[in-house]
Amino acid sequence: MTASTARYDGDTWDLATSVGVTATMVAAGRAMATRAENPLINDPFAEPLVRAVGVDLLSRLATGATTVAELDSDPQRPFSGVANVAENMAVRTKFFDEFFLEATRAGIKQAVILASGLDARAYRLTWPDQTVVYEIDQPQVIEFKSRTLAELGATPSADRRAVSVDLRDDWPTALRQAGFNPALPTAWSAEGLLGYLPPEAQDRLLDTITELSAPGSRLATEGMNRTEPVDENDLRQHMEKVSERWRAHGFDIDMGNLIYLGERNEVAAYLTAHGWQITTIALPELRAANGLPPAVVEEDAPAVEMLYVSGTLPEDH
Ligand code: SAM
Repeated sequence: MTASTARYDGDTWDLATSVGVTATMVAAGRAMATRAENPLINDPFAEPLVRAVGVDLLSRLATGATTVAELDSDPQRPFSGVANVAENMAVRTKFFDEFFLEATRAGIKQAVILASGLDARAYRLTWPDQTVVYEIDQPQVIEFKSRTLAELGATPSADRRAVSVDLRDDWPTALRQAGFNPALPTAWSAEGLLGYLPPEAQDRLLDTITELSAPGSRLATEGMNRTEPVDENDLRQHMEKVSERWRAHGFDIDMGNLIYLGERNEVAAYLTAHGWQITTIALPELRAANGLPPAVVEEDAPAVEMLYVSGTLPEDH
C-alpha cells in the first residue's frame, strides 16, 4: 500500500500511506501555519509529529527546510495549486479550536474528535477540569500518535481516551466501551473526514452522531459549496493536476484515488433535516473574517469551496 493506492472496503493504513498520509499533510500545514508571521494558530506538536512519520517532502515543509514559495518558484514544477495551504489550514484549525472552546465554555464536558489523525487538541487546548476527549481513528494512526507524543514528553490537557476503530465499522460500541455517555451533551468534530467515506457511510456516520447526541450537543464539520454546477470529471482532473505537482516534488500521492467523488448528500442540509440548527461559513468568508486576503485561485479550478459547518441539537429535539 502506498499513498496512491486505490480505496476498497475495509482498507487500512498508517500515517505514511493511503488516507493516513492526508493526516500527515494537514499536520504539515499546521506546522507551517504555526511558523507563519503573526500566526493564527499555535500547534507545537505538528512539526515533531510530521518529522516522526518521516515522509521526506512533508517533513521538509513542516520544519521550514523547504517552503511552498520555493517549490512554486521552480518553473518546471509549479506548485501554485497548494499555495494557500498554510493559511487555509490556519483558519480551519482555528475554526475547530474555537468550536471546542465555545462548547466547553457552555458547559459541555464530553468531546469526540472523529478521525483525529495527528490532531493534538487533546494536548494543546485548555480544557475545563473533568472534560473527557475521545479520539477515534484507525489503530495504526492512534498508536503512532499516542506513542510519539508520549516520547516527546507531552501530556494530555484533558482526560484523553483513544479509540482505535474504523469509522465504517461499529465505532459506537467501541466508543461506549471507552466510557462515552450518550445521555450527556457532546461536542463532536469531523474535520477532514467526510470525503474519505463513501456517500452512504457519510450518511450513516451523521445518523449515528445524531442518535448518540443528547439535546444541547454540538457538531462541527465541513462540506463542499458548489458555487456553480461542477462536473465530477473536472474535479477529478483538477485533483490529478494537484497530485501531479506533489509527485513532481517527490511525494507520491493520488488524491483522486483517496477521496470518494460522485453524488453525496450535502452535509448542512442533511443535518438540518435531522433536527440540527446549522450555520455555515464558506472558506473565502472565513479567511476574510481572520483578516486574510482572498486566496490565490487558479483560473481553471472547479467552482467548489470548502464550507465550514457547525450546529446544535436543540433541547426540544
Ligand atoms: N482530523 C484530522 C486533522 O484534521 O488533522 C485528520 C484529517 S486527515 C485529512 C483524515 C483522517 O481521517 C486520517 O487520520 C484518517 O486515518 C481518518 N479516517 C478516514 N477514514 C477513516 C475511517 N474509515 N476510519 C477511521 N479513520 C478514518
